[in-house]
Amino acid sequence: MSRIFSGIQPSGELHIGNYLGAVKNWVELQRSFESFFCVVDYHAITVPYEPDDLRTRRREMVVSLLAAGLDPSRATVFVQSMVPEHTELAWIFNTVTPLGELERQTQFKDKASRQESVPAGLLNYPVLQAADILLYRADLVPVGEDQVQHLELSREVARRWNARFGDGFFPEPQAKLTPARRIMGLDGQSKMSKSMGNTVGMLEEPPAIWEKLRPAVTDPARVRRTDPGTPEVCNIYHLHKAFSPPDVVSHVETQCRTAGWGCIECKKVLFEHMNAELTPIRGRAAEIRAHPERVEQVVGDGAASARRVAGETLREVKDRMGLAQA
Ligand code: ATP
Ligand code: MG
Repeated sequence: MSRIFSGIQPSGELHIGNYLGAVKNWVELQRSFESFFCVVDYHAITVPYEPDDLRTRRREMVVSLLAAGLDPSRATVFVQSMVPEHTELAWIFNTVTPLGELERQTQFKDKASRQESVPAGLLNYPVLQAADILLYRADLVPVGEDQVQHLELSREVARRWNARFGDGFFPEPQAKLTPARRIMGLDGQSKMSKSMGNTVGMLEEPPAIWEKLRPAVTDPARVRRTDPGTPEVCNIYHLHKAFSPPDVVSHVETQCRTAGWGCIECKKVLFEHMNAELTPIRGRAAEIRAHPERVEQVVGDGAASARRVAGETLREVKDRMGLAQA
C-alpha cells in the first residue's frame, strides 16, 4: 500500500484554505492509504512566535484535525517535536541539498521579505519538510498548490541521497492536489494564509464568518448591482465550488453572468452552504475539547507509532552513511 504523509503548522488557526486544499483530502485518503499526519511545530518556529501561543495553537490544531475527521484508528496523527528523528534526518539532508535550490524557493523569498532578520531555519524549512516526508518513505503528499515547489525539492533531495548512498531507498514523493488547491484570502490579494490575517477559520462562529464574508472582494467589474460579472475571476465563486452542491454552483454562475443576483445575495447563499458543512465540525471540536486527556492519548500513541517507522528509516540511513547508531 502507498504511504501518504502531510503536515500543517500550528502557526495560527486552521482556515478554510487549509481545510479545502489539504485536510479534507486527508480525511478522504486515510481510508485507502497508510497515513501519517503531523502538526509541524518545528516548522512554525521559523517565524517569530510566543512559546505559550505555540502550546495553545498546537493543542487547538490537533483538536481541529480530529474535528475535521482524521481518525486515529486509521491514521497516525502526531506532533513533530515529539519525534526527534525529523530533525536528525533534516541535518543529514542539509549535507546533500544544494544551497541555490533553497534560495530560489518562493515561500522562502516571500516569508523572508516580511522579516527584519532572517533565520537560517527559514531557508532550511524545505529540508526539514523533505525529512518529514522521507522518514516515512511516503510516495504521496496531499498538499495545497503552494507546496508543489517544496515537493520538487524533496524529490531532488531523495535523488541526491539515493545516488550517493543507496539507489532506490527513498521514493520520490509526488504532490496530490485537490480542485481547491489555492484558496485566495478574502482580501483577494494573496493566498489565504495563517500568517497573513486574511483567513476564515474552519471553527469560526457563523456571525464572525459573515462579518468577514460580507465585505470580501468579488469580481471588480461588478461595481453596480446591475453590472454582470465573470464568476471565474471571483474568489466567492471558487468557494461556492468547494462548499455548494453542483446545481447551486451552476445557478450562481448564471446569476453572476446575468447580474441576476448582487454579490451580497451570492454571498448569503455561500454562507448557508458553508454553515451546513462547518457546523458539524464545530460541534465535534467542542466535544473533543471537553476531553483533553483523549487528545493527549492520541498524540502520545501517534508519536509512538511514528517513531517506530521513523527510527527504522533513520537506522538504515545512518548505517549506509557510515554514522554511529545510538
Ligand atoms: P502559514 O501562513 O503559517 O504558512 P498556511 O496557512 O500557509 O500557514 P500551512 O501550515 O503552511 O498553512 O499549510 C498547511 C497545508 O494547507 C499545506 O498543504 C498547504 O499547501 C495548504 N494550504 C495553505 N494555504 C492554502 C490555501 N490558501 N489554499 C489551499 N491550500 C492551502
Ligand atoms: Mg504555509
